[in-house]
Formats: sequence, C-alpha cells, structure tokens
Amino acid sequence: MEATIDGRKGMSINWEGSAITRPRMVVKPERVSELIDIIKNEKKYPAPVRAVGFQHSITRCAVADGGTIIDMGNFNRILEFGQRHVRVQAGVRIYDLVKALDARGLQLCACPEFGDISAGSVACTSNRYISSRGILGQISSTVVGMKLVIPQGTKLNVTAKQPDMLNVMRSSFGLLGIVYEVTFAVREKIGFVVKRWQMDLDDLSLAMAGLNGDGIGVRLTVYPFSNKAQLETRHSVKLETATRQWKPTLRAWGWNCLVPLVAQLFKRLVPSSRLRGKQLDILLFQAQKMFTRMSQDRIAEMSAVCLPRCRMPKWGRCTYTTWAFPADDFSLLVEKYVAFCLQYKRDHGFRCDLPTKALFVPKDPASLLSYAADGDVFTLDVFSTGGKGWEDFLIDLNRFCSANGGVPLLNQTKLLSQRQAVRGLGRKLVTFKRLRRNVDRHDRLSSTFYQPLVG
Ligand SMILES: Cc1cc2nc3c(=O)[nH]c(=O)nc-3n(C[C@H](O)[C@H](O)[C@H](O)COP(=O)(O)OP(=O)(O)OC[C@H]3O[C@@H](n4cnc5c(N)ncnc54)[C@H](O)[C@@H]3O)c2cc1C
Repeated sequence: MEATIDGRKGMSINWEGSAITRPRMVVKPERVSELIDIIKNEKKYPAPVRAVGFQHSITRCAVADGGTIIDMGNFNRILEFGQRHVRVQAGVRIYDLVKALDARGLQLCACPEFGDISAGSVACTSNRYISSRGILGQISSTVVGMKLVIPQGTKLNVTAKQPDMLNVMRSSFGLLGIVYEVTFAVREKIGFVVKRWQMDLDDLSLAMAGLNGDGIGVRLTVYPFSNKAQLETRHSVKLETATRQWKPTLRAWGWNCLVPLVAQLFKRLVPSSRLRGKQLDILLFQAQKMFTRMSQDRIAEMSAVCLPRCRMPKWGRCTYTTWAFPADDFSLLVEKYVAFCLQYKRDHGFRCDLPTKALFVPKDPASLLSYAADGDVFTLDVFSTGGKGWEDFLIDLNRFCSANGGVPLLNQTKLLSQRQAVRGLGRKLVTFKRLRRNVDRHDRLSSTFYQPLVG
C-alpha cells in the first residue's frame, strides 16, 4: 500500500481548490484487507478517516484534518456486467463505466454529465441530474447493492433484500463505512429529445404551468440581472438509429468547462463588475440561443452527455452551491430568488457572474436523506466564479433558501449551518444522527465538515 505523510503542506481536496486539508496520512490501498487494517489501526491511521474518489466535489466534504485520507484510485475494476445490473469497485470512474455499458447496449438509470467522479462517492452522497421517463435524478437511488468496511473494521454487504439498510447507505456520506464495491441497476440504452425556449422572466410562470412533469425532464437557466430565462425539456425516446453525438457533448463541455473559463477571463479583463456581468449575460444568453437552433428536436443517446474530464486550469473553474425546493410554485420561488439577488447587489455590490440553473427531480424516497423524499423538487444551482464577496453572499443565500422551504444536499450545499440542515431535512436527520452514533461510537469517520451537520 502506498502511503504519504503530508501534514504540514496541506493538499487541495476539491474542484476549485477552495478546500485545503492537512491529513496526517494519505494512503492508497489495493485490497479490502488493507482497508480493514486502516480502519482498525487507530494509532497508525488517525481519525477522521475519509475515503476520496476524484476530489471533484465543490464543498469541503472530503477534508480529513489531522486524520487519514484513503485514495480509492486502486479500486478501479468493473467486476461484473448483467442485463439489469453492473458491479464495480468504488474507485471506478463513472465516465469509464458509462462507456463500458454503452458498448454493451446498456446505460445507467441516471444521466451524469460530468463523468470524472467515482462510483463510491456518488453511491453514498447526494447528487442531482436531469431526469426523464425511466431515468432518475440521483445516481445513488440506482444503487442496488453496496459493500462497505464499517467503523468496527468488519465488512458489510448490503443488498436489495435489505431495502431499509440500502435506503440508509445511499445517503451515508462515508459516515457509516468506506464503500469498496457498488452494484448499480442498469437498463437498455434509450435516447432523448430536447426542446428549448428563451423568454423574459415575467413569462416564466406561464411557461412552467404548461409542463405536466409526467416523465418530462426540465432544466431552467435563470439570468436574474437580465430578466431572461431558458427552459429546456427532455423526453426519453426509443433509440432506433445511430445518432450524431457531438452536440450534447459540446453542450456539456461548453457549460462545465468553457463557460467558467470565459467567465474567469472576463473577470481579469473587465474590472467593472457591473459591466462584466451584463456583457457575460448577453454573451451566454446568445450562445444558448444559437445552440438551441443547432440541437432542437434531435435524438441523442444519453451517454453522449457524459464528459470524460474537464482539463481547465484551476483559475479557470467555477463553483456552485445547491438547494432543493418543492416543485409546486417553483416559479414563485424563482421570482423571490431574483428579487433577493437584485436586493443583495444593491446592498452589498456583489452579484453572481454566472446564470443560475434549476433541475426538476421527481419524488425520490430511495435514500433516507434524499432532498426529494417528500415530493417532486427543483434544485436551485447557484453558479459563480467565486472570489471576493462570494462567501458572504452564500451566508445570506442560505438564510433565504432555508426560510423559503429549501432542503440542502449535505455534500453540495456550501457553508450550511446545523440549524439549516435540521430545518431542511427534519426528523430524517435526527434518525441518521442516532444511527451514526450507534455505528461509529468513536467518531472514526466523521470530519470537521460533517460533524456540525450530523453530530
Ligand atoms: C465540473 C463539475 C460538474 C459537476 N456536475 C455535477 C452535476 O451535474 N450533478 C451533481 O450532482 N454533481 C455535480 N458535480 C459534483 C460532483 O459530481 C460530486 O461532488 C461527486 O460526488 C464528486 O465525486 P468524486 O469522486 O470526486 O468525490 P470526492 O470529492 O472525492 O468525495 C465526495 C464525498 O464522498 C466521500 N467518498 C468518496 N469516496 C467514498 C467511498 N468509497 N466511500 C465512502 N465515502 C466516499 C468523500 O469522503 C466525500 O465526502 C460536478 C462537479 C464538477 C467539478
């Protein structure tokens, strides 16, 4: 097992480089027996013990100050393909899995856009993706089996025959055990068709009222400072012929890689935030319009939207935070959110320089801490290039979201307070806290990030 001790220097542990952690040990085991040894040997491998995949989270959820980081990179084998499932080790890259399934005429039952993430992390944390008929909004909900090393240093095999335990493990955030193997449900490949409309924000509620939500995926882009929005719907369709794949890939690459780089360049070249924000809004809105003309109504395969990686320099990346809101009246929430952004800009001079996104996720009680457990939701994904003023904005944004019935995603909502977590997740969080305390009495796996949230 490779091991490094990297305490003093610190290491970056998230996508945009905003989370620096100072673990005592960083280890890269190859076998489950080594994982067990790490968990059992408290002296050699101090707490907190956190497994990491590709360290592409946007919060501090992977930090392990003074503790042990387990790099799962050697657990990278796809173990078994079935007609209805695939079994993989936890360090397998989701993009590699998507491609391997694609070659067999299969796909995951969720549609990830950014594939440089690990099977182990998405199996046990909250995530949100565009859904449509037969396609769920959370990858963790498609997990039908999981193998873990629990804090007692023993192996635990959770299968579909233990639905309650699976329900807990799908949102266990590495706090109940280190995941070393995952079985995902898979299905035959299907395609999708998108339709997009651009509009003034004033027309949004009318446009959204026309969507019945029944199996239709919805993605919304909101430009609070330009009074504009784009609505995108996605329908699942049968794949009959091979289709050209580059347009959906281009869209995913454009949004995840190019737009942040352009926004960061703007920040350097145009010092006035007022001017910069307006120009960027116009540029992005026009780019979305042009793209709509190119790709409207074409059938594409789901796997085409999954990006292998995003090779942008750290300075050219963006960041985001996420909350979920009941889908009923979401257009009203958008109105309030826009008013909040405008007021915040007037009071503090800060505005997010990237548009805000929202995704429809249908009711999904498959995990205990699912943000969509009680009904259909829209996630509100607030994007920014970060920098001065962003963290202060996040504190007020969290207050706004919490006060308006928002539910946080524990690993994807930045600067979340315990009160806001409890308010959003309610009794389910209390249940999880109790379970965690029973399973991990000596706080082997809990970190400074999770401890305030889940006690
Ligand atoms: C460009 C970009 C686009 C993105 N788009 C989306 C998106 O559309 N939707 C979305 O939901 N997210 C998105 N994300 C966020 C990202 O997909 C998730 O945060 C994902 O979980 C990161 O995977 P990772 O392997 O890098 O996990 P890490 O950051 O390495 O770990 C994440 C968490 O999981 C824990 N963990 C990791 N492996 C294990 C294991 N084996 N056992 C137990 N615990 C473990 C870690 O300790 C940590 O708490 C995006 C991120 C980027 C950078």
